[in-house]
Amino acid sequence: MTGPLVPCAECDGTGWVTSVVDGVSRARRCGCWRDGAVNKAMSLARIPRRYDHCDLDNFVVYDNERLLRAVSAARRFADAFPVVDKGLFFIGPPGIGKSHLAVAVLKKVIHSRGAQGLFYDTRDLLRVIRSTYDPVVRTTEIEVLRPVMMADLLVLDDLGAEKTSEWVEETLNLIVNTRYNEQRLTVFTSNFEEKEQTGDGDSLLERVGFRIHSRLYEMCEFLEYDGGDYRHAPTNATGKDLTDLWNLRKQGQNRLPRAGRALRAELKGKADLKWPGGRAGS
Ligand SMILES: [Zn+2]
Repeated sequence: MTGPLVPCAECDGTGWVTSVVDGVSRARRCGCWRDGAVNKAMSLARIPRRYDHCDLDNFVVYDNERLLRAVSAARRFADAFPVVDKGLFFIGPPGIGKSHLAVAVLKKVIHSRGAQGLFYDTRDLLRVIRSTYDPVVRTTEIEVLRPVMMADLLVLDDLGAEKTSEWVEETLNLIVNTRYNEQRLTVFTSNFEEKEQTGDGDSLLERVGFRIHSRLYEMCEFLEYDGGDYRHAPTNATGKDLTDLWNLRKQGQNRLPRAGRALRAELKGKADLKWPGGRAGS
């Protein structure tokens, strides 16, 4: 831990404050020590800088029943942590603030409960694991996996965006099952909704595979919602801005049979060169 340039005036940088109570000298932790511990936990949590501003209090809500349900579930979870039965699973189209909610919950439990939290974009995690994976002995560096398995709260963002393969399924199964068996809580987000399998491979079940899909139901509260796309909203967007954007999105859905296809077509028109083949990340 790197200390501040000027040592704390309260404890002179020792982290302990002594006081004399009833003639007995007692030491207690200085406030700066706890701040330091929280700062360290925050830096270990790997939260991308673009989510620095994400809190539960600045999440813009509007008249949207399922979004409000997702937000209150997030609040309940963060307030009760770690005494919670199930993790959370935010599902819906890109840009509706799923990662914002997941990060906000993560930050809150780190700050208020001193929890060890960890954030990973699912594709990044798989990339890191793969980079240390030895295909001959079928092992991966335990240093990579240990924090993922052990974190008090893990956020796995954008589940289903990765290209599926036997290895991907096996690896995700190992992570998800280990956490489930150890009764550790996990928050997931995904752009892939629960829907009938059409053969396009874009239902949640098809994206994550049968085993993880059924396990997710056991370990998470499913919070599927729709809404206005933040990425098209002005800075400091209001509830009205997002309601308008939501209405636009709904009109788009009415005009075209498939929201995913419409979005894809719309984005193809823009110069999105790194289009991954699925839906865009949020
Ligand atoms: Zn101090």
